[in-house]
Amino acid sequence: MTLARNFTKCPYCREEIAEGAIRCKHCHADLSDLKKKESVWAKYNCFRTGFLVGILFTIVLSIILYLHFTSGN
Ligand SMILES: [Zn+2]
Repeated sequence: MTLARNFTKCPYCREEIAEGAIRCKHCHADLSDLKKKESVWAKYNCFRTGFLVGILFTIVLSIILYLHFTSGN
């Protein structure tokens, strides 16, 4: 008995398959590509979020500096 194994659902046929499986045992869909794409997308999202936060920080910093120097006179 393998009750401790984690199960996930196949995105194609919605049948239960073992977590981390690269091929669905029900519809034989290839799930290895799906996993790869997901991780690349996650990495890209992480990079883009960091990039946007950097831009936002620079804009806020320039506004603060601008207000500081204009109100100083
Ligand atoms: Zn399937």
